[in-house]
Formats: sequence, C-alpha cells, structure tokens
Amino acid sequence: MDKKLEDIFSFETIADDCVKCGKCIPVCTIHNVNADEVTSPRGFIDLLGAYKRGNLELDKTAKDIFESCFLCTNCVDVCPKSLPTDMIIEQARNDIAQKFGIAWYKKTFFTLLRHRWLNDIAFKLGYTFQTCGFKIQEETNSMHSRLSLPILKSDRTLPSLSKTSFLNRHKEELVENGGKRKVAVFIGCLANYNYKEVGESLLEILETLGIDAFLAHDQKCCSAPAYFTGDFDTVDANAKHNIAYFESFAKDVEAVIVPEATCSAMLKIDYEHYFHDDPAWKARAQSMSRKIFMATEWLHNHTDLDKILATKEKDSRLVTYHDPCHARKMQGIHQEPRNLIKQNYNVVEMRDPNACCGFGGITMQSEKYHFAKAAGTPKAAMIKETKAEVVSAECSACRMQINASMGYDKEITTVFKNPIELIAEALKN
Ligand code: SF4
Ligand code: SF4
Repeated sequence: MDKKLEDIFSFETIADDCVKCGKCIPVCTIHNVNADEVTSPRGFIDLLGAYKRGNLELDKTAKDIFESCFLCTNCVDVCPKSLPTDMIIEQARNDIAQKFGIAWYKKTFFTLLRHRWLNDIAFKLGYTFQTCGFKIQEETNSMHSRLSLPILKSDRTLPSLSKTSFLNRHKEELVENGGKRKVAVFIGCLANYNYKEVGESLLEILETLGIDAFLAHDQKCCSAPAYFTGDFDTVDANAKHNIAYFESFAKDVEAVIVPEATCSAMLKIDYEHYFHDDPAWKARAQSMSRKIFMATEWLHNHTDLDKILATKEKDSRLVTYHDPCHARKMQGIHQEPRNLIKQNYNVVEMRDPNACCGFGGITMQSEKYHFAKAAGTPKAAMIKETKAEVVSAECSACRMQINASMGYDKEITTVFKNPIELIAEALKN
C-alpha cells in the first residue's frame, strides 16, 4: 500500500485516480460470477465517488451493489495505482448500516462476538441441540441441515460446534514449556468454537519448540465479521478492548501468534485503518501490530521448526495449499506455510492458489450465498484437479467456504487441514 492513509478514505480522490484501465476486472471475484460493470472494482469506485459527491443516492439498489464485493483485494493487488477498493467499500458499508440498520440475525451474532461469556453459552446450547437440526460428521468438524431451508440447504456443508471451546478447555493462563521463550496465542472464533484441532496443534508445536504459550483468555473476537458488515460499534468496542488487553502483557511476550489469516490481518492492519481519524488509538494500534504474526510466519522466521521437521519422516499424502486473501495479498504470507509443510508432505500447486475461495463475509454467507457458492465452485474444481488428499490454508473462514464448495461435488474426497495441524502431525512421526 503506497498511499497515505488520509488519501485512502477520500472516495472522490480515489474515483479521480482510477484511470479505467480495466486491469482489475478479470481478477475480480464478484465480476467473475456477476459480469456487470457496476459490480466491478472500477464500477464500485465510480459509484462511490458519485455517492460522496452527492450525485448518487444510497438507496436499496446501491446497498445491494456495495454489499456484493467479496473484499478479496484481488483488484488492489493488480491495480497500477493500488486503489483500495475494498477499504472504501468497508467505509461505505458503515453508511449503509446507519441508513438501513443491520439485519436482526447479524446483530445477534455481533452481540455474541462482543461478549465471549455470552458466546460461550450460545455455543454450548448450540452444541447440545445441534443434532436435532443437523447431521454431524465428527471427523471433518462439519454438519448438514436435516431440512432444506432458504440459506441452510441440506447439501451445504457447515462447521459443527465443539463441546467445549479451545479457551475453556485450557483454563490455565500459561502453558509452560521451559520458560526460555514465550508467545501469546490469539485463537480466533472459528478455531475457538468449531475447528478445535488448530489450537491443540499449535500448543503441541510450541511444546516441541520449548516455547511457553500465554493463552490470552481475555481476548475478544477481532471483529472482522462486524467490520466487513459496517457494524463499527462492535469494531470500536472489540478493537479498543483487544489493544488495551494486548498492551497489558506485550512486554512479557515475543509475539502474539495467530493461526488465522483474517484475524491476524484485522489485528495487524485493519485496526489501524479503522482508527485512521483517531490519532491516539491509531498509534496504539500501530504499536500493537508490530507484535502480531500469523502463526506459520512467526514459527518459520523465528524458530528452528523447519530444521526439526526436516528430521521427521515423510508423509506420503499429497497436499495443496490455498492462499487466503488476508494472508498473501494483505500480509505477504505465502512462502512460510509452504516451506514448513513441504518438509514432510508432497506439495502440489493448484492452478490458481491465489484465487479467492469466495467466503466474502456474513452477508455473502447468508443473503448473498448464491454468489459465494458460484465463486467457490472454480476453487473446488482446481483442488480436485490436483488429486491432493489434503487442501490446506491458514484460515478457518476459507476452511468453512472450501469445505462447503467441495461438498457439492461428491467425487471430491480431499479433506481440509490448517497447516498448523499438518505440522503437528508431522512432528509426531
Ligand atoms: S486497475 Fe485500478 S486504475 Fe485500473 S480500472 Fe481497476 S481500479 Fe481503476
Ligand atoms: S475486493 Fe474483490 S470482489 Fe471486491 S471489487 Fe476488488 S476484486 Fe472485486
């Protein structure tokens, strides 16, 4: 990102800067499933410029258009002027939320994200009753609705709930592994409540490396789902809480490691963007960001994990790695997870590992799920072409979407694993 932060949020400047070259169009996730100029990066930019100049009313049609972006940043990556389409759409979604309100079910979800104790109760209740409404596949942490409802169609694979969250399973604040080095763990909501093996695997790796793990129990959701939906009240509450909480232990740890691309990008990059017009909080977000790392990034660059893995047996399974948008495009992390998993697995690249999986956020996963489903189909097809037994990505949102996309093709038997799980499995051999 080579633009100054204050220019990034000037919609008119960005609209004027767009040279309409169209380089962004072939890579645009929404344009590829809805080939219309208004749902393309330069279309969004044009319309947002017109809206800020008072030439376009933020009516239901405009709302529908601005909610169609996947926020995948593919366009930013290829734009010769690095125009931040995703960031101005995030800002516009706050205007949408203020004008139209936020749907009751999203509001309920964001309320849970603001209060972990409430989320714990909700997920416990969900776990108890999930078998009434869903068929559970324990081995893949997934489930299917017993009834075909408008959004919860019976053929859609969803993540199942764990009996106890990762943080509640580990009540201790510090997992001691020798006391020489220490990192804090930010686990993220999906790994906390749904994909429990991610956190357990991370603890196993840290134990092997002799690094103490501070389980930051007072962490709240990074608030990415709320940010992408325009619920800035939730972002404000959770971001300020997390920053103040991280400051309270920052001096005692080398890093805060996050086995999730979206959460780490939110903590490391989007908090600073969110506080762009609040100098005091922006400075605190910037200071905190220096300690935030994706788990594979930190393990690869700050430990001997690759050398330890090289002493372990080879696993015959074929693995393909998908690049989460929030890892590769936002944080430049793509080589680190590959370098680690290739020590023990045969890695085969899919046709376009950098293509967005089509997750897109809460709105895309609910009322606009037809777009998410359409965007996920090519990703599932490229995974199938590799004949890999495992598809990996350091992101539970990608996992949820890729599992759903692969689930529609009954010939696909590939299973999903976070690279942290693959590494922990390799260390046992
Ligand atoms: S690539 Fe950038 S400058 Fe070119 S049309 Fe897209 S947004 Fe505009
Ligand atoms: S962020 Fe993704 S979906 Fe949105 S305009 Fe850019 S390329 Fe298209």
